[in-house]
Amino acid sequence: MKLENYVEGRWIAGRGEGRALINPVTGDEVARADASGIDMQAAMNFARTRGVKALQGLSFKARGQLLKSIADTLSANRGKYGQIARINSGNTLLDAAIDIDGGIGTLKYVARLASSLDSSSGDARIILEPGQDQLAKEPVFFARHIWTSRPGIAVQVNAYNFPSWGMWEKVAMAMLAGVPSIAKPATATAWLAHEMVRDVIAAKILPDGALNLVCGGGEALIEALQPMDSLAFTGSAATGEMLRGHANILKSAPRVSIEADSINATIVGPDAAPGNVVFDLAVREIVNALSVKAGQLCTNIRRVFVARPHLAALQEAVMAKMAGLTVGDPLDERVRVGPLVDHGQQRTALEGIAKLAREAKIVAGGGAPQDAALGKGAFVSPTLLVCDAPREAKAVHETEVFGPCATLMAYDNVQEAVQLAARGGGSLALSVFSNDQMSCAEMVASAAPWHGRVLVVDEETGKAHTGHAIVMPQCVHGGPGRAGGGEELGGLRGLRFHMQRSAVQGSGKLFEAVKQKAAEAAL
Ligand code: NAP
Repeated sequence: MKLENYVEGRWIAGRGEGRALINPVTGDEVARADASGIDMQAAMNFARTRGVKALQGLSFKARGQLLKSIADTLSANRGKYGQIARINSGNTLLDAAIDIDGGIGTLKYVARLASSLDSSSGDARIILEPGQDQLAKEPVFFARHIWTSRPGIAVQVNAYNFPSWGMWEKVAMAMLAGVPSIAKPATATAWLAHEMVRDVIAAKILPDGALNLVCGGGEALIEALQPMDSLAFTGSAATGEMLRGHANILKSAPRVSIEADSINATIVGPDAAPGNVVFDLAVREIVNALSVKAGQLCTNIRRVFVARPHLAALQEAVMAKMAGLTVGDPLDERVRVGPLVDHGQQRTALEGIAKLAREAKIVAGGGAPQDAALGKGAFVSPTLLVCDAPREAKAVHETEVFGPCATLMAYDNVQEAVQLAARGGGSLALSVFSNDQMSCAEMVASAAPWHGRVLVVDEETGKAHTGHAIVMPQCVHGGPGRAGGGEELGGLRGLRFHMQRSAVQGSGKLFEAVKQKAAEAAL
């Protein structure tokens, strides 16, 4: 099977042989992706003209209806997506649900947001920020800030680990803003994104040019970006760095958001002692990090900081639960840990573990499973390390092992724990497990500049919290520094990337007129 590209309102196959997508359990080829020979300039111009005109002619509410229709179409076809996620990504049922249902749920959430953007005329297409400033002595001259849709396209380059969620969370926000998307899934797992877009296009619910798909190399998309376009990239720090310095990005200056890799941490508070509820909650979350999606989540816990007196007990509790993790083919329902996406990622993860092992001791796992039946697959055993000198260590704070691997480290006081967490150089997510709210409040304030999201779990939130790694569309996703400095989602805040804020200066009467066609909202 060769995946096609959806551009200029039609499906087009690339001219070359393309790159192979494999089943990571067997190593067998399952599809090919190729975008060679596609006229990207023409594809982008089609979206810039037809797509922009169609979407920006619609109100926020009408765009919300489009998003709801996409979600309904995907829900109607949900059955086959789990199979594709298993065959091409090595996903268990739970892994697939996080990606597929996470994507559908985010579309539905953004569709609901649309209904909050209304005006007296009922067809709001711009946003007026609340509050006005008087600029003259007499109350005749004021300033307000408005947000308008950018007349460009959103090029969205995604990572392999979330072919569904990664694509739909970006498409949803762009579409609500009235900006057409060109989605480029990572080649390794593009089949699921391709199948979903095929279903949406076949349902004939979207205007021409609103949603486009490129399966294969994305270099030509970057070459053709123009000033009103945007690039939202999710992937490794190395590719992000290359894109930041790309000649056309520097010359044309489109908006750019980079979501890169991140050495996230969790702090098990000093009060989280063996036998109490928060300690058990921390253990559960750490074991999730070593099993869910075989550790291939950008937000995953990579480093665990625990009060020195509890280090041995935490290690013992985590290892006891790890013993129950079955690694293998996700076709077997008992399997909790599937393979990594391909042998290249397996090799990189094993090299990363070897690097960590130079300054930390492997206490569980550490390599590929010994089971001969798994020999052809890209498996990595859930791996736990303990680092005795976290202050002196470097690799544990700087090496992302994108697989089921975490390192335990002791701290002597919470200030030290926060400082060690910041050694990640800027991360997507930090979690804290503690019932001591005063101490947590201090940790939140000092850790927040280094993190895009901080989750605090106590006994009360224990049953209700959504997990360290899970991205909620109400909350911003992204992180400073090494994590790329990008920001996505976060309720209406996600619109900022696709809209222009302008200060408008004028009379009270002008703003009364603007208000009739604008939704008043704080972004
Ligand atoms: P990657 O190798 O950097 O690739 C990411 C995307 O960039 C792919 O779609 C890739 O396409 C594309 N790409 C590569 N070179 C390009 C170029 N010259 N021009 C245009 N596009 C180009 O990353 P990955 O291996 O797919 O993903 C794993 C990494 O992503 C991990 O480090 C993880 O932490 C990170 N991640 C971060 C987040 C976040 O939200 N911060 C979320 C998920 C994953 P091809 O596949 O066709 O090469």
